[in-house]
Amino acid sequence: MHEVWFQATENCNLKCGHCAYNFGPGGETASEDTVEAVVEALPKDTFSFSLTGGEIFTRKQILVHALAYAAVMREERFPNAKLALQTNGYWVDNPEETFERMRTLFELGLDFLCFSGNDKYHEEHDIDTSKLRFDPKIIADSVRNSSNSTSILETAYLKMLATYGIDSFPSSFYVLSSGIDKGVYPVGRAKHLPSEELNMHSVCDITRNQTNGRSELLVDVRGDVHMCIWKIPPPIGSVHDAPIDVLVEDAMKKPIYSILALGGPEMLAKVFGLYEQSDIQDMFYRFSPCYMCEQVFAKLAEKS
Ligand code: SF4
Repeated sequence: MHEVWFQATENCNLKCGHCAYNFGPGGETASEDTVEAVVEALPKDTFSFSLTGGEIFTRKQILVHALAYAAVMREERFPNAKLALQTNGYWVDNPEETFERMRTLFELGLDFLCFSGNDKYHEEHDIDTSKLRFDPKIIADSVRNSSNSTSILETAYLKMLATYGIDSFPSSFYVLSSGIDKGVYPVGRAKHLPSEELNMHSVCDITRNQTNGRSELLVDVRGDVHMCIWKIPPPIGSVHDAPIDVLVEDAMKKPIYSILALGGPEMLAKVFGLYEQSDIQDMFYRFSPCYMCEQVFAKLAEKS
């Protein structure tokens, strides 16, 4: 089972301090060829294909192309995949325009619209989080006709339900609006945040996914496939060369990925003899696996 994120642009309207990718204005965007190659490389058992950035709404042409192409190919190639999109929501300004954008996305084939800008980090960049409130309880109450005061996002969504005659909630077109609430992963620009804001108790996603029999992959603007959404380990290959499931199968035969899957960066550091045992334990207890992972791969790159 595969969950695939496609970072269709590295361009963002903001330059947030908690960005794991160091993105901001002026970043690169995928070509139409790469968009099509990514969609064509998706495994048959993909259960979620999510478009993200950067901020994907700053590059609407590629957003529309990627979503429309994925929707057309879905039935034949990856029939069980939900199509999702992640945005910081900077464009949510009034109910009518927000509704029109939602309607366009829904008609293109989108199932799941996720707003990631509903937190203090985006608020520092003038995102008005009150407009992005999306409370499922308020929606459910409003569907049952109780009066409620709703945010711009909630109002637009209620209009979607009414327009398309969707009388149940949750519905087949779903919205989620959330931000960072459990600490920021200490990678990219985020590692310079005060330590109390960082999530130091995560588990390596590759190890966790191995246990669950799934993979969570990220494809970047060039079509390079990453086994980790933070892009710390090197890419496993390109969608221009092979389907994603073949790249994953080949990668798991290589020591770096099979060791990460078994025991995360701690085991990688031990097996490759990168640090003294006491230093590994110290790093493991004081820092998150992802922070340690960055150090481990920098050290491996130095050695090669
Ligand atoms: S430990 Fe490394 S490979 Fe695992 S999730 Fe963190 S950055 Fe990714």
